[in-house]
Formats: sequence, C-alpha cells, structure tokens
Amino acid sequence: MTEVITHIVLFKYKPSITWAEFEKHFEVFLALKDKCVKPDTRRPYMKSMKAGKNRSWENFNKGMTHGFVLEFENQADLDYYLTKDPVHLEFSRNAKPLVEDSVVIDIRDGILFGPRAKKPTTAPSPGTYTGACHCGTCTWTAEITSPNHILCHCETCRKLGGGAFSMNQIIHQNQLQINSGTPSRYTYTGTSGNPVHCYFCPTCTSHIYHHQEVMGEQVIVRTILLENGGEMPIGGEIFAEGKLAWVDALREELEGRV
Ligand SMILES: [Zn+2]
Ligand SMILES: [Zn+2]
Repeated sequence: MTEVITHIVLFKYKPSITWAEFEKHFEVFLALKDKCVKPDTRRPYMKSMKAGKNRSWENFNKGMTHGFVLEFENQADLDYYLTKDPVHLEFSRNAKPLVEDSVVIDIRDGILFGPRAKKPTTAPSPGTYTGACHCGTCTWTAEITSPNHILCHCETCRKLGGGAFSMNQIIHQNQLQINSGTPSRYTYTGTSGNPVHCYFCPTCTSHIYHHQEVMGEQVIVRTILLENGGEMPIGGEIFAEGKLAWVDALREELEGRV
C-alpha cells in the first residue's frame, strides 16, 4: 500500500493584493519544493508540486482561484512540513494576510474509507510563558517547569471560573511577573481556614493567579490563560471526587450527538 500523501490546497486571494505581492508569494511558494529540507539530511523531501490558476469553465470553484497539489512520501513528512519546517512556517505566516479563504484536503491514492490522520501533538517545553487576560489589559509571564494542566474540580473553581474545572500549575511567586495592568484582588477563606487571594483583571475579570496563604510563597497560575495553553496536555487532577459526572464522558456524549 502506498504511503504517499497528496496534499491539495485551493486558495482564494484577497482582491486587494498587488501584482508585486502575488509575484513574491508565488515565487516563494514554488521555491518551497527545493527549500524545504529535512533537518537531518538537509535534502528536499517534497516529492512533487503542481501549482496553477483555475481555468475550469464549470464554475464550481466556489471562489477558489488557484490550486496547489503537493506530494509527500508519507504522513510524517507532511506533518513535518505543516508543523515544524521553518521555511514553510515562515511562508505560511507571510501568506496568511493575502489569503481570504482556502480549502485543504489530503488524500492517499486508492484509500476511500478510514479515519483522518491524527493531528501531531507538539509537547510544549518548560520555559517562560506569556499570559494575557481576555481584554489584554493584564499581561504576565510565568516560568513553567511542567507545561501541563492540573485540573481542579473543586466547587470554588467552578464558581469562580464558570466552567467545569480550572487548569493550573503551582509555581514560586518569583516565577510570576505581571507586566501590565494591576490585577484586582478577591479574598475568601479556603477549606484550610486560611485566606485565599484571587487576582483577576479588573476590566474583564479573567483570573490570572491565586495565592493561598497556607502555601507560603507558592502561587497557583491559570495555565489555560498562557500562550499555547491550549496545546498543553493534562498533567493530573485534584478534587476529582467533586468532578461533574459528565466530564469524563464528554467526548462520547458529544460524539453521540453529531
Ligand atoms: Zn482583562
Ligand atoms: Zn479548585
């Protein structure tokens, strides 16, 4: 069975693009075939590329004006192209403002049934993450050594966040730095009997971090508010006994309804 993947991309460009922008964009696009190289071999890995303007008279192009058909040896090569290849990623960043709409499908010749390819997961690495509240008034950085979410299912988190659980990491207070905005503070008495201070954006109310006095110099940062927080895996959960009954079944529940 062939492993070859055909990556089919259709673009509809913004009407405002100048000829110069078009020329530059196509020049860089066509050069990807030779400039995209594997990091180990330094050799090009795109098997073939076809590119051209739509010339169909059938009028079924749904506004798409150009087509690109790229072939890759296998899914791993395509995944590298889409998620890691610095040459392609730079091209994508520059192309984004030019493209009004696109259609992308990947096929494996002859395979007419079966599941989609798995989206590659890029595990975030330890480091300094920037965070921002919903309105952007408050921004901060947090040094995270375990970039994953510890879910808290306690009732307080549900009340304060209005969600099924909160997502957190505990870090030293020196590892958190507020760069803009002045968070407001709400204090309540925790289950330990000690005060817990919640710091949140005074404008949009996004919760930035909590400080339980019982934890000394440690603070609890909300990991989902950090840049790339959506890509962090789950690292664990606390107060699981308070978990809403449908949380574990969420995926099946939703899949059953579509
Ligand atoms: Zn805000
Ligand atoms: Zn909680």
